[in-house]
Amino acid sequence: MSRKPFIAGNWKMNHNLKDTFAFIAGIDGKLPDPEKIEVAIAAPALYLVPLVHHRGKNTYKVSAENVYFEKSGAFTGEISPEMLAAEGIEYSIIGHSERREYFHETDEDINKKAHALFAAGVTPILCCGETLETFESGKTAEWVTSQIEAGLKDLTAEQVSKLVIAYEPIWAIGTGKTATPEIADETCGVVRSIVEKLYGKEVSEAVRIQYGGSVKPDTIAELMAKPNIDGALVGGASLQPDSFLGLLSF
Ligand code: PGA
Repeated sequence: MSRKPFIAGNWKMNHNLKDTFAFIAGIDGKLPDPEKIEVAIAAPALYLVPLVHHRGKNTYKVSAENVYFEKSGAFTGEISPEMLAAEGIEYSIIGHSERREYFHETDEDINKKAHALFAAGVTPILCCGETLETFESGKTAEWVTSQIEAGLKDLTAEQVSKLVIAYEPIWAIGTGKTATPEIADETCGVVRSIVEKLYGKEVSEAVRIQYGGSVKPDTIAELMAKPNIDGALVGGASLQPDSFLGLLSF
């Protein structure tokens, strides 16, 4: 089965509304054929609706960087999957390592978010990845296996075949230290084999797995050439239109 490459920018806590409009203008009419490459922009919650409404003929998808797992109610400061769906937002990142670390998100929270997103019709981009210490002690596969098993708990095969998983080694995020394409591919292969063990071959061949961590326009081609890497989740290099477009010409 051939999986469509999927490149997503993750703006994190960067940009304002003016920058958002400048970004849209900078990529206008320059995105690749959506039949060949899927493109998404994950932005701070404030800029999601402008990204949807000012998409024009641009074919990018829009992603939240985080979401809560309840539908509505007394949860001050939170945004629900239903709100994302109502505004035409197609994806939400869940379980990014920065949220796990600074906001103490647990595997259980992340699993609840995955269920809530699917129920609302929004596709999760589920992140996993190990610290430098875990990597150096040779425990990456074990670590990532436990994150993925917990993240996927009780999801159906149909849901998992639509899911996107991003493998992002924490030691490579924002550090300029990309995992070698071999390391990245090996761990993305581990992720795929966990999905196969849990859901069978057909689902594991459908699920899209991105690599993330200091991906740049000049490193993307060798990552994308690897059999288990179907795309990238990119922070720093996704912020400016030229660099973002450079990530799409691999
Ligand atoms: P980076 O961030 O590309 O700046 O390393 C990636 C991410 O955290 O998604």
